[in-house]
Formats: sequence, structure tokens, C-alpha cells
Amino acid sequence: MPIVRLDEATVRRIAAGEVVERPASVVKELVENALDAGARLIRVEVVAGGRELIRVQDDGCGIPADELLLAVERHTTSKLRRFEDLAHVLSYGFRGEALAAISAVSDFEIVSCIPGASSGARLRVRFGRPARVEPVGAAPGTVVTVRDLFATIPARRRFLRQDATEVAYIQRALAALALARPDVRFEFIVDGRIALATPGSGQLVDALAGVFGLETAAQIVPIEPVPHDEVTVTGAIGLPAVSRANRQTFFILVNQRWVESRTLVAAAEQAYHTLLMVGRYPIGVIAVQLPPERVDVNVHPTKREVRFADERAVAAAVHEAVRRTLLAHLPDQSPPSVAFRPLSPPAVQRRLLVADPTRAAPVMTRPDPEPLPVSPIEDSQTESGQRLPILRVLGQIRQAYIIAEGPDGMYLIDQHAAHERILLERLFEELATHGVEQQRLLEPLILELAPSQLEAFERYAGELACLGWEIEPFGGASVAVRAVPAVVQRSIERVLLAVLDELAAGGRGTTSLEQVAISTACHSAIRAGQELSLPEMRELIRQLEQCRAPLACGHGRPTVVHLSTEELERQFGRR
Ligand code: ADP
Ligand code: MG
Repeated sequence: MPIVRLDEATVRRIAAGEVVERPASVVKELVENALDAGARLIRVEVVAGGRELIRVQDDGCGIPADELLLAVERHTTSKLRRFEDLAHVLSYGFRGEALAAISAVSDFEIVSCIPGASSGARLRVRFGRPARVEPVGAAPGTVVTVRDLFATIPARRRFLRQDATEVAYIQRALAALALARPDVRFEFIVDGRIALATPGSGQLVDALAGVFGLETAAQIVPIEPVPHDEVTVTGAIGLPAVSRANRQTFFILVNQRWVESRTLVAAAEQAYHTLLMVGRYPIGVIAVQLPPERVDVNVHPTKREVRFADERAVAAAVHEAVRRTLLAHLPDQSPPSVAFRPLSPPAVQRRLLVADPTRAAPVMTRPDPEPLPVSPIEDSQTESGQRLPILRVLGQIRQAYIIAEGPDGMYLIDQHAAHERILLERLFEELATHGVEQQRLLEPLILELAPSQLEAFERYAGELACLGWEIEPFGGASVAVRAVPAVVQRSIERVLLAVLDELAAGGRGTTSLEQVAISTACHSAIRAGQELSLPEMRELIRQLEQCRAPLACGHGRPTVVHLSTEELERQFGRR
């Protein structure tokens, strides 16, 4: 074929494909326009997954009647004048393509009225062909109605999924935008029913309640901002108890713009390490603020991806903010003790992390909510610097506690809790990689179970199998144990019965798999009352030093009590 210049209508339809992929992209573009127009209320309505109708109504600044025609042309914008402005744009839009693209592939109508005008104006554009602008009575603001999306592009239309799926995409986009702008009231109406509503109070908690529902929102905690050089991370993240099976409800905002960023999502997820089971994902919203010139928003047709001048620094800031927030909210279950308080895991974390020895009586007092120092994320092995320092084992007390010396004072390690933590991390690690290592029994072990144990076995059969327990019903209340997890080194019968008893009583952990893992680790671990040789203790401490979250066992009890040099001196009246 000879080379020809494509006609305008064809060019438009090709270009539209980049901006308008599905109903959710239409909604996103129109809502962003409303936000750019300073709207306080944005109402979005869809019918039949957006295929039949999408309507976005706002109370923003409106478009003057004599600019309506221009607004739907390509590359027309009120937000940018020169290319150089791009580095500083704070508006969502700047390419002037959305209205042109949407009106090229739908039966499109825009009604707009600027505040103070006696009447508004209406413009209809059917699949790229604009009619005349007509005066019409209208409230201040803009209403865009999109009907029969992609009706003239069968290929695109076929590509759309079921209504419910398209609605889910739209809902996700609106959730992100509503979380980005808690100061704006959002309403989303699907086939006549309200699917999402936020009050526009300006408070993120209110927007979270509108997006996630009150019950889930109660499990979402705010990130206290700690300004880094140029990056500030705020937002709110779900506690491990409200994880999900996918990443659909975790949002990244960069300068109030919703973006996809694998790197930042990974940085946040890493901070949940060992707190969430494999295959579970956190919920929440991470809002990154940085100078506009440190981020390029013009790398993707729908601005879904951005490029950072220093992505590693941003990722490190996100990781640190999430980790710090999680640590501050880990349950504190430490009982009071005689001589000095056992530290709750977060408190121990702080003691080990905050290198400033001038802080007063850290061991005796409650942890104060001060920020932790910045930690780089490139090395997940030193995650948040939360690991134990290198310890020198001195001996054992009451056949239960290992006494050791570290760079800052004395450490007492609960040998059972420590071993439990080590085995738990080994199980998690094996689960996440090649599967839990098993040890096959030479002969099956036949056990008679109590009714509650039998019920627990039936209820957790799948999870037990995942964790290496190969158990079969053996008639009546009996089971045959054919293989056990390799972490179970002795007294198989005692361990299994104790695991089943614990599961029957409800177990500990956020998922069934986690419950079985925690219970298996606990009952396989060495117990108090067992004498350990010095090499055995050294090996235990060495393994604990390598744990990612060494300071609490799977049940949340502390593994380590720390008496700082400063505290020792205070106790002996040297200070
Ligand atoms: P962009 O948002 O990139 O500028 P659009 O095609 O989305 O391009 O919109 C073109 C122009 O139309 C905008 O720059 C803005 O001036 C105007 N406009 C679009 N939607 C609205 C709205 N809801 N309220 C006020 N003005 C709007
Ligand atoms: Mg726009």
C-alpha cells in the first residue's frame, strides 16, 4: 500500500485506544478532570459495567460555553502552556487528550456551567462527530455522560469482561482517587445502588471507612510521617489481621496521584515479612510526597506509571515507614516481671535499634513512639536492622534461660521461645520455597484421638498436610501418622496431640496455615527444663541471630530480655 496521511477520525480512534482501555479508564480520566476543576463533590454512576452508561458529575469550575468545542479536541488543555511546565504540573491532567479520546469512541455529552453564568451549555459528540453547542439550564459544574462505549469498535468491546469485573476495576480506581483526596466527597452508584461513598471531611480515616467499610477500617492504622530528605511517606496500612488474597486493595499515591509501582508495593510488602503468610497481601494506602521535579509523570499514556529520580530512596522510605508503623502496633503482651520488665517485641526492637545511649531508662519505661532510624531495603537480611546483635553465651539459668553478653549489656534468652521462633521461620521459609521438609516414619504411628482432637484434625487436614504432617484416618477415632515435618525431632505423639489440642482450642495466627505452623513450631521446640551444653546454646543463639524477627515467638511472647549497660550501672548505683 502507498503511504497516505490518515484522516483525522482514524487518528483519533487510534489515539483513543491508548487512553481509553476500558470503562475504568474513562471514569479515572473524568474524575481527574473534576478534581482538577476543584470539585468538592463527585458523583459517578454506571449502568451495565459502564458499557451502557457512565456519568460523572461535579460541582467544579465548569467550562465556558465558548470553550466547550475546544475542550473535546485533541491536545487542548487549560493546564499547561509550555513543555517546561511539565516538570511542575500538579494537576492530574495535562495532555489534553481525555475528552477527545472518550468522545471519539462513545456517544458523548458534556453539560457545563461556570459559577455565576445565567445558563450552561451542552455539547454532544457522537463517536468523534461533534454537534453544535447549545445553551441549557444547568447547575454550576460539569456533567459528562458516556453512552455505548466502544460501540463502533467491536474488537474493543469484545475485550471487555463481565459487568461485575468492569465494575470492580472502576471501584478500584475510585477507591484510589477517594483515598488520594479525602477532602472531596465521592459517590459511586452502580445500577442504581450506592457502592462507595466518602464524606469529604478531609480526614483519611473517614475516606478509609467509606472505601473499606467501618469494620475493616478499624484495623487500618495511620503512618506517622517522618520527613526524609525530600520524601515524606504518609497514608495508612492494614494490620496483618486484615490481609487479602490479592493486591487489589493496596494503593500507591505519588503526590496525590494514584500510580502502579511494583517497586514501592514490594518495599511495603517486605515490611510485612513474617507477619503475613505466603499468598496474603496487605491492604492500605501509601502516600508519597516529593518535589514534583523529582518524579516524571509523563512516561505512560494514562500516567499509571511514574519514574523517580531516585527510586531506591523512595522505596527505602516506604519500607521504613511501613515497618515502623507495624512495629508500633504489634501486640504488647509482656507480663510484668520481678527485677525488670521483659521487653515487648516492639520495645526490644527499639532498644536494639535506637543507638542513642543518652535516652533515659529505656529498659524500665514504656517505649516512646519515636521514629526508628532509616534502614536501607536492598538487603532484606538486615531488614530494618531489627536483628539481634552478635551475642556471647555465658551460661544457662534454671535450665530455661540462656544468659549472654552483647555490645550493650546483658541478654536473657528464653530457650523455648527462641527455638520456637527459629523453627517457625524455618517452616515459613520452606513453605515459601520448596515445601516443608518431611521425615518419613519407618512404621506408621497409630494414635487414638480424643473427639476434640479428631475434629481439629479433620478441620485442619489440608494445612497439616501442607506443613509436612502426613496423617490418615485409621478407623474410629484412630489416625495413622506416616510422615512428620522435619522440625519435629522427638516425641512425635506428644507433639501431634499438643498441636491438635491447641488447634481445637482455636490456635494462634491469622490464617489456618499460620495457626498450624505456629503450633507445630511451638510444640517441636526444646522446652524449659532441658539442660543445654555450651555449644548447643551457641548454636541456638547463632540461629536466633539469623532470624528475621528474632524478638518474639510465634505466639507473640518475647524471646529476649535485655538489660542495658546503662541500666546495670544504674541498678548498682554507679550512675
Ligand atoms: P487535560 O485534563 O489533560 O487538560 P482533557 O481532555 O481531559 O485534558 O480536558 C480538556 C480540558 O477541558 C481541560 O484542560 C479543562 O480545561 C477542561 N475540562 C475537562 N473536564 C472538566 C471539568 N469536569 N470541569 C472543568 N473543566 C474541565
Ligand atoms: Mg483530563
